[in-house]
Amino acid sequence: MSTTLITNIGELTTNVGSPEGDRFGTLHDAAVLIDGGRIAWVGSADAAPVADEIIDAGGRAVIPGFVDSHSHLVFGGDRAAEFEARMAGQKYAAGGIRSTVAATRAASDDELRARLRGFMDELLAQGTTTIEIKSGYGLSVTDEERLVRLAAEVTPEVTFLGAHVVPAEYADRADEYVDLVTGPMLEVCAPHARWIDVFCETGAFSVEQSRRVLEAGVVQGLMPRVHASQLGPGDGVRLAVELGAASIDHGTYLTDDDVAALAASDTVLTLLPGVEFSTRQPYPDARRLIDAGVTVALACDTNPGSSFTSSMPFCIAIAVRDMGMTPAEAVWGATAGGAQALRRDDVGVIAVGARADLVLLTAPTRIHLAYRPGVPLVDQVWKDGVAVFASPAEVRGTENHGPLAR
Ligand SMILES: [Zn+2]
Repeated sequence: MSTTLITNIGELTTNVGSPEGDRFGTLHDAAVLIDGGRIAWVGSADAAPVADEIIDAGGRAVIPGFVDSHSHLVFGGDRAAEFEARMAGQKYAAGGIRSTVAATRAASDDELRARLRGFMDELLAQGTTTIEIKSGYGLSVTDEERLVRLAAEVTPEVTFLGAHVVPAEYADRADEYVDLVTGPMLEVCAPHARWIDVFCETGAFSVEQSRRVLEAGVVQGLMPRVHASQLGPGDGVRLAVELGAASIDHGTYLTDDDVAALAASDTVLTLLPGVEFSTRQPYPDARRLIDAGVTVALACDTNPGSSFTSSMPFCIAIAVRDMGMTPAEAVWGATAGGAQALRRDDVGVIAVGARADLVLLTAPTRIHLAYRPGVPLVDQVWKDGVAVFASPAEVRGTENHGPLAR
């Protein structure tokens, strides 16, 4: 197997914290050796081992590939008009999901698959090397099975979210719909999925219904994660902590009790800044959460209704600008935090034995991800040791980043 050495890295974020202080594991003038799909060596460029191929980072920054632990990428249709109306003052409500359900049911497997493949390319170009994908726009036994099956073609992190919203044909019969989700639907979806999820929110599912969904999933071997406290405070956080969920996602409205319960648990809080951006809700106070001891991850929640961005750098920029996170904390949340939210220790870090998922930025530090919002700063991406993306500047072989890197 051939080896690749990325050397002359000006700033390397490993996320392997040192007991003395820097929990982000930052190294300068560093190098990383890739052997096959794994990281084989990390250290000072001066001491780097020989390799078959040498990549000169030119003093620029390298970070772990982004781990986006929350997305809804299998869907039909588009809700641009709804976004436009919302920007003109209309309020976001959970029921908008139903219009995407109709468009998704009408789309063929091949149409959904083609779109999903397009999203996967879009993700790599922005440095995302691990993605979690949820079902939830089928809401029938046949359609939910299609969505988890298609998602499993592109990622191992598949989540069954049959309990996304009560479909129109079950209006006023939510408990009967929960019977369907926890019975026949779960049975056909569980073989394709790793996770069980529920939207525990007023207008979606009650805490009792949510508990039924999650417990049924656990019986089928799935691990729980929860959408909660997006539109207002509720009991979703307490339920997630009680059931040992890997993550509670949204968490825009948390009580002090919620924060204390999270801080004392292994449950990650995954914040989704693209949602607040796109729904004009107030941003959550990540500073309050981190200072209280909560583990905070960042994810895009890519979906056609409430957050149609797939850009982790964009979410990092918002988290720094409007949620009180430092650039290092935000990058940690988008890499190691996402990995923790998926209970993974082989991604989100640059350490010997971890998957060789790396991003070379066009910038000298990770700070630029927040400092230069909206600018494409991803220069090269490796996934499992394979070079899967290079920016056009890199393809042309032009050295247009030199002055930045010094
Ligand atoms: Zn979501």
